[in-house]
Amino acid sequence: MALQMENLKRDMRSLTAEEWKAFAESRGWPAFRGAQIRQWLEKGVLDSDKMTNLPQSIREELRKTFDVFGVNIEKKLVSQVDNTVKYLYALRDGETVESVLMQYRHGWSQCLSTQVGCKMGCVFCATGMGGFVRNLTASEMLAQVEAAQEDNGIRVSSVVLMGMGEPLENFDEVLRFVTELASPGGVQIGMRHISLSTCGLVDGIYRLMEHNLQLTLSVSLHAPNDELRSRLMPVNRRWPLPELMKACREYFRVTGRRISYEYAMIDGVNDTDACADQLAALLSGTVSHVNLIPANHVAGSPLQRSSARRLREFQNRLAKQGINVTVRRTLGADINASCGQLRRKEQQGKMV
Ligand code: SAH
Ligand code: SF4
Repeated sequence: MALQMENLKRDMRSLTAEEWKAFAESRGWPAFRGAQIRQWLEKGVLDSDKMTNLPQSIREELRKTFDVFGVNIEKKLVSQVDNTVKYLYALRDGETVESVLMQYRHGWSQCLSTQVGCKMGCVFCATGMGGFVRNLTASEMLAQVEAAQEDNGIRVSSVVLMGMGEPLENFDEVLRFVTELASPGGVQIGMRHISLSTCGLVDGIYRLMEHNLQLTLSVSLHAPNDELRSRLMPVNRRWPLPELMKACREYFRVTGRRISYEYAMIDGVNDTDACADQLAALLSGTVSHVNLIPANHVAGSPLQRSSARRLREFQNRLAKQGINVTVRRTLGADINASCGQLRRKEQQGKMV
């Protein structure tokens, strides 16, 4: 019963400045009380008892209405080959998500989860294989960044929403999160340092376009034709490539932001010369950038990554046809840094 009551509480850090003012007014308090609460939260004070400029009655009401949805570090793996750190975070209801912290020349970049699990069922993805549990709140996303910063004594300078989950499926909370992240006070990571990766939810791309954000949109393509893409990614049956590419062109026209296309190279599946040529044709005339990723092997899957040589040949073939293409550096190879795998392993461990 007590737990059920707890679950009814709202997440304290999921309210915007405007929503705090509205909340104050809804309780019959002056609007400046909302601004005061917001200022405390921006300073990192999350306990209403420590919000000393608020009257006792307001602090009490906050305690009754809100909770802070944080994360705890359940497991941490540190790479011996580079400085990559992989976390398994526990959420307040015992669910777990993964996040990876990577060091680049320009600073620390963190890969975050937006959902526990994922509904989209891509066949090459460890997260997809585990099914869907629930959406994360904006503050559970913020907490992933704060926990990594605190644990390592560093500042994260960019984030990519490429952990577990499909960000556009959790649209409102993700939008709230990126807006919070970029706003003054708090963590402060500007939109240009945020990448949002989607498997191609066309309605979500149009919705995002309306907000005209300066973040980078990454589209997980992984196949250059509908037949293959529908086999690898069920989402393609709902929104096939012509519709997806139309949405991407429109997105660029409105936001002026170049789109990144992710392409995981799977041995003998999507890495042939014919695939490279089809991909070049699909993207010709678009302002885009292709990221080739050596696919990570997922336990229980027959799919294997392409060889380094095949990757290079595929890259050259695209480049010769005028496509802007790079191969993603593999970080944290020794700790299985790609997302979804650690949680899956832990769960399977628990089942035995
Ligand atoms: N759901 C979103 C974002 C999370 S997945 C999306 O699909 O874009 C982040 C990236 O990892 C995506 O590009 C996804 O296709 C890729 N990915 C998933 N499993 C992979 C694997 N086994 N090897 C390489 N990349 C993988
Ligand atoms: Fe979900 Fe992305 Fe994995 Fe597909 S690749 S199952 S969309 S997390």
